[in-house]
Amino acid sequence: MQKTLETSIEFLKGVGPARAELLRKELDVKTFNDLLWKLPFRYINKGEISLIKDIRSFDDYVQIKGILERIYTQGEGRRIRLHAILRDGSGFIELVWFQGVKWIKNSLLKGKEYIVYGKINNFKGQISIPHPELELSSNASITPTLEPVYHGTETLTKKGLDNRSRRILMRNLLEKVISSDIPEIIPTNILKQLRLMPRYDAIKAIHFPKDSNELKIAAFRIKFEEFYLMQLRLLRMKVKRTEQFGGFVFPKVGHLFNTFYKTYLPFELTKAQKKVIKEIRKNLGSGVQMNRLLQGDVGSGKTIVSLLTMILAIDNDFQAVMMAPTQVLAQQHFRSLSTYLQDMDIQIAFLTGNVKGKQRKQVLEGIGSGAINILVGTHAILEDPVQFKNLGIAITDEQHRFGVKQRAKLWSKSTPNPPHILVMTATPIPRTLAMTLYGDLDISVIDELPPGRKEIITMHKSESSRLWVIGLMKKEIAKGRQVYIVYPLIQESEKMDLLNLQQGYDTLRRDFPISQYQISVVHGQMKAEQKDFEMSRFIKNETQIMIATTVIEVGVDIPNASLMVIENAERFGLSQLHQLRGRVGRSGQQSYCILLTSYRLSKESKFRLKTMVETNDGFKIAEADLKLRGPGNIEGLQQSGIVDFQLADIAKDNKILLEARHQAMQTLELDPHLNMPQHHHLAVLMKKMDQKFKLWSKVS
Ligand code: ADP
Ligand code: MG
Repeated sequence: MQKTLETSIEFLKGVGPARAELLRKELDVKTFNDLLWKLPFRYINKGEISLIKDIRSFDDYVQIKGILERIYTQGEGRRIRLHAILRDGSGFIELVWFQGVKWIKNSLLKGKEYIVYGKINNFKGQISIPHPELELSSNASITPTLEPVYHGTETLTKKGLDNRSRRILMRNLLEKVISSDIPEIIPTNILKQLRLMPRYDAIKAIHFPKDSNELKIAAFRIKFEEFYLMQLRLLRMKVKRTEQFGGFVFPKVGHLFNTFYKTYLPFELTKAQKKVIKEIRKNLGSGVQMNRLLQGDVGSGKTIVSLLTMILAIDNDFQAVMMAPTQVLAQQHFRSLSTYLQDMDIQIAFLTGNVKGKQRKQVLEGIGSGAINILVGTHAILEDPVQFKNLGIAITDEQHRFGVKQRAKLWSKSTPNPPHILVMTATPIPRTLAMTLYGDLDISVIDELPPGRKEIITMHKSESSRLWVIGLMKKEIAKGRQVYIVYPLIQESEKMDLLNLQQGYDTLRRDFPISQYQISVVHGQMKAEQKDFEMSRFIKNETQIMIATTVIEVGVDIPNASLMVIENAERFGLSQLHQLRGRVGRSGQQSYCILLTSYRLSKESKFRLKTMVETNDGFKIAEADLKLRGPGNIEGLQQSGIVDFQLADIAKDNKILLEARHQAMQTLELDPHLNMPQHHHLAVLMKKMDQKFKLWSKVS
């Protein structure tokens, strides 16, 4: 039944061995099916006639109507060219031919009206249409058809497989394909409920839509299918994991948890924190391994949630590990966790590559014997020959730097079950993106800041306001507050970074003399100890100003800091700016974020700065960032191999995605293994996709 689609592309009318090889090389098209699913990325409206005066050099294809005024040749022999001038009521344009000159010249009729269709060529500002399609206007029937445009390559075009011939191949292909070749995969009830176009009709319509309405309906169907299949894959990973692995059960909320909660918790938890802890507890008591993403904007109080989770593990006689992406962060976590736990009978230890000798040996022994309850460190812990006695939970901060491989390593550190996993991120991820990237995880969100926080006041200032900024700095410092100044990291040139920073420091010193002000400097090229030393001086309020490159970006928590000045703010991405801003406003006092830029800004930079000034909401910023940069640029998304969409766009089509996720859940609830007859075609397709992805992940 599905034979036709598996036919080698070589046997399609108009292809043959040479073109087949070309299609394979350039587009990875081997079979009829492969070509069928190379969908157009846009359409040309052939019913639309443009005025010549409206043509712009960057236009692609145009269709115009006019009278042929002049026809003449230039050059001789093989270099002969044919020119014709076409005029409509608005202007004129040149048509050019390099081949078949004689024959074409004889067929053109001067003074007659033609419909001309072709691609605009722009040679040094001179616009022409080479080798246009021409038709006498009296013969032409202009039907408003939409012609598909496909992604091609230069080689394909050179070898004659341009869009025009791609269209012909596509028509040949669609003639061969009958409806039973493309059985419906989406369950009937969903099809009916959402009034989706059947699969066969949709694929035909997406290549050659009758009109824009049909195109819309077909595109909707295909986008839904793309999302639905992705969600099924992700959710099935979860089903499989649950079936394959048990989870350690943490049934009791014990003595330690209760003691800490009642006696040592320094503040009342926010409603959002309580809600999340409840979600986690339920998960940990269920016997299913936890794989949870904890999202919370900067300053929302994720640390305490992670601590309570770890105490829960210890109450149930398990160990916990907490990992952070950088030394500085790991140390900060260690410090704050140690402070919280100072009066508790819980042993906590710190381990990174820098911990050496006797101390290292001691830590390793403590972990092996179970004497140490909580281990804090960088992700390097995974590389280490660290053997836990009984690791029950692993918590990682800033998940987007925690890859699949690392996860696998973590699992190998624990038997018979993998440890529960809680990944925390302060980079708010739009819901739709989270579903795509982490669709197989459960998601908890802390969507509330601790009480008493004042909105950070954000302002965009230019160079001419520098004096004012210095005044603000002095004012804040006079109040006993501290100030960050951040310079962008110029990745191409580490030397330039330092130069920038050094110059900034020198200039600053003129206004902040050493007799009155202490300044910390932190940058990426510093040794860890030196960095830590500078950091700790700032933490202890021995220095009032910290100048840094973006190394302070994630997680640093110094509540006394109230002013963040970002130099060359136009050079930072939105998420990064928001992360940096989150370093202030971490207590009850009014905080400020000043974005300094030059005058000349791109449209995109202006939009970023405006967004920052307008909102403090990390999720809104993340949505804006996603729209701005497109999903392709979001870290982790490409590698995930999940983004395989031709039409669907997680930034723009989020409603369709939500519906697809909902429907995929329902499908799996009814039939977790897709064994039911009505899911037969779906199961077959999923299996094929799984194989493709296995291959894919082996390659990468
Ligand atoms: P993040 O989510 O960015 O990691 P932290 O856990 O570092 O946030 O918390 C930010 C600050 O808020 C810390 O100084 C912490 O002590 C404080 N904090 C956390 N939860 C609360 C709460 N419920 N009430 C008051 N302060 C809190
Ligand atoms: Mg944090």
